[in-house]
Amino acid sequence: MKTRQSFSTPEDFLSQLQTEYAESALEGAPDSEFMARTQADLNALDNTVTYTAEQLRSMAVVGAQLKEHVYGSLAADMAARIVPNIAVGILDTGEANAAIFKSPDGKYAILLNNGLLLLLNKFVKLMIAWEDPGRVIYCNRKPAEELTVGELREFLPELVETYKQYGAPHGAMLKLAPYVVGRQSSLLHLMELFIVCHELGHFLNGDLDNESDFCVVEDRPWLRKFEENKDHAIEYAADATGFQLLQTVLQAIPGNFSPLNGLQAIILLFNLFFLLTEDESPSHPNPRTRSVRIARQFFGESFADALESSYENPELLRALFPKD
Ligand SMILES: [Zn+2]
Repeated sequence: MKTRQSFSTPEDFLSQLQTEYAESALEGAPDSEFMARTQADLNALDNTVTYTAEQLRSMAVVGAQLKEHVYGSLAADMAARIVPNIAVGILDTGEANAAIFKSPDGKYAILLNNGLLLLLNKFVKLMIAWEDPGRVIYCNRKPAEELTVGELREFLPELVETYKQYGAPHGAMLKLAPYVVGRQSSLLHLMELFIVCHELGHFLNGDLDNESDFCVVEDRPWLRKFEENKDHAIEYAADATGFQLLQTVLQAIPGNFSPLNGLQAIILLFNLFFLLTEDESPSHPNPRTRSVRIARQFFGESFADALESSYENPELLRALFPKD
């Protein structure tokens, strides 16, 4: 297929990406034997890794809602900067985290990896189940009523490891009681919103203006991708701009979310990224440090100090977030 070089809008660019990536997710694979073996391994665990056309479409619906919530909340001046330049979507990008892609004619698209959203959803369910195993109404590993907190805790490393290895999480499958499903979807949505807001933070901070911070995407020479995590200060600044933006979004969308609700979701999100990345590298900030920095800037010194101490003693976290 001859790839287009110019696009009328960022949405137009996004739909080109959706077409290309959907085709490769459904059929193409550089090494068919490797993919077949991976698929066989995964089928032994569960069978959700090859996305059907139906699943890809439903991810597109989630992406559209995410975009609607963020873009629909922007003040006119902010919307005028963002909307004509950047699209938001969900795709099987194979990137561990969200990424910003750039077209040859300078349109941007923020893309969240399908597998990341699945991982976040499973992670949120586990967090809620840890507080009270009685909230689990179904588990594919054993009768739900026999599950202990210890067993539920052991499910997380498996999800993290399979995500690292295959780009999609595989492990125990849980269903939670209807009375916590609202909390589950709220926490998940807050995490997704912050991920999008962080990426928009890069755009608003001018981080995308420097061509040398983009690299060519493997197997797609026409496409470039913003290199995340080259610099701690740039990431912290995008978090700060992103959190500011998130607060605007939370005031506009249904759900009565407070800034503290947003922070709580971010702390959980960065705890998960901490497990995915282990620790900081010269270019890659420690995800927990990122939570603490947001807390320090927006909630004050003592709150941030208490959060920092809670990484040694998780009981302290309860005091920061009164039970709902
Ligand atoms: Zn970033």
